[in-house]
Amino acid sequence: MPQVCPISECIDLHIHSTASDGSFSVSQIIEAAKNLGLRAISITDHDTLEGSLEALSHPQSPSLEILSGIELSADFPSGTMHILGYMLRVDDSAFLKMLERIQLARSERNLRIVKKLQALGIDVEYDEVIEASGGGQVGRPHFAQVLISRGVVQSAEEAFSKYLRKGRPGYANRYRLKPAEAIEAISQAGGVPVLAHPFTLEPASEGALEEIVVELKANGLKGIEVYCPDPNLERRARYEKLVRRYGLLMTGGTDFHGAAKPDVHLGVGKGDLRIPYSLVENLKACRS
Ligand code: AMP
Ligand code: FE
Ligand code: FE
Ligand code: ZN
Repeated sequence: MPQVCPISECIDLHIHSTASDGSFSVSQIIEAAKNLGLRAISITDHDTLEGSLEALSHPQSPSLEILSGIELSADFPSGTMHILGYMLRVDDSAFLKMLERIQLARSERNLRIVKKLQALGIDVEYDEVIEASGGGQVGRPHFAQVLISRGVVQSAEEAFSKYLRKGRPGYANRYRLKPAEAIEAISQAGGVPVLAHPFTLEPASEGALEEIVVELKANGLKGIEVYCPDPNLERRARYEKLVRRYGLLMTGGTDFHGAAKPDVHLGVGKGDLRIPYSLVENLKACRS
């Protein structure tokens, strides 16, 4: 693993803005990244390119490189599978059309969540949730915000564990791309597909994760997010081993969401994360 780098040589390739469920606007993220002295960032909002589009149209700074990015949710039986896409064309019409389909499915799912919460006797209207989203895409963290402001729960964690996560009474499923479809869509749009935070797949064993990686690679996966704000360094070393064994790329990012995940900070995660710029060079080499 590369040595600890000075922050001016560091990057953060996993950031959420108000275009999805982050609490920082794109301008605030760019300002914060500049103040911190990061060398490269990517805004990887869930199922939307709006954040990336805005970041790329922002006046560019010579000291801060911005890569286009997105995080797609994929349909997987265990845990949560997210596929990141980097350096894709933000104006690719087939990709944008696919995102529209996903966003429609999201809106329809959100209405079902409202109904479920109402059926539980919780006084919540969809308009309030839309307001909580600040005009971006509506996601479950915005439902959590409303549940907190209504005094139903004390924290987002409690909102998810009591109501919003899979298996809880306010959960509603939604259409998701198959993993191979997410990878294919990103590749077709000229991007590099990467498996995000592998631990959220909740693999039963090291071998189970390896099997998943082998299958994803056969479908065109190019990398694994090895660096994330996970204190379990042993796990990180295992991801690194998989990357080496299967000739994949390493990427890294904090999954910064601002207020929604207050213990995770831009660029540095829980404080000690340092992700070297060399990973961006590898990404670029992979695409060219
Ligand atoms: P959605 O894409 O609308 O289904 O919402 C999923 C998002 O909810 C994830 O990307 C996280 O940002 C957030 N989330 C998921 N589980 C939790 C949790 N246990 N506590 C807080 N936020 C969560
Ligand atoms: Fe999120
Ligand atoms: Fe994710
Ligand atoms: Zn994320």
